[in-house]
Amino acid sequence: MSEKQRKYEFTWDVIGSDLALARPSLGGNTSIEVYRLFQFTMRDVIEQNYGTEVADTLFRHAGVLAGKAFYDKFCTEATDVNTLVKRVQDLFKDLGIGIFRVESFNPETMEAMFTVDEDLDCSGLPDIDDQICVYDEGFIAGILLGFTGKTFEVKEVDCWCTGARTCRFSAKPTE
Ligand SMILES: [Zn+2]
Repeated sequence: MSEKQRKYEFTWDVIGSDLALARPSLGGNTSIEVYRLFQFTMRDVIEQNYGTEVADTLFRHAGVLAGKAFYDKFCTEATDVNTLVKRVQDLFKDLGIGIFRVESFNPETMEAMFTVDEDLDCSGLPDIDDQICVYDEGFIAGILLGFTGKTFEVKEVDCWCTGARTCRFSAKPTE
């Protein structure tokens, strides 16, 4: 589809710039229930129509788009890894996304292990056999893409939903 034909290309404009004007009495926040209601009904209908694998792939791609947009809006002033990590940590906390930590990072291979506690997408959900934070996988990959210009494979290896209670993500550059 050409850019001209598109109805839904993401820009920050869709979120609105003046929430005091847009929602004078309700303000700029909503509840976790509403966020998860939206996300998990969207997953449900995509899975029903296109299967689990496509649903996960689409959510991961959306996560990359979101993570890159998040980097471009909030993180471009970070010039080194430590500043970036601090910035992401502060924003994840302030915006209620989760408690972000770097468990390990190898500056030579760029391989890393990240954890997110109290994750917005999955914390508190019933236990299942599978990790579910594919959107977060993409989100982290999007931040890393913004910072390094490289594509990363990010995989959730532990999740609240697998009983780990902490979401743990491995990351490595794809090339
Ligand atoms: Zn998780």
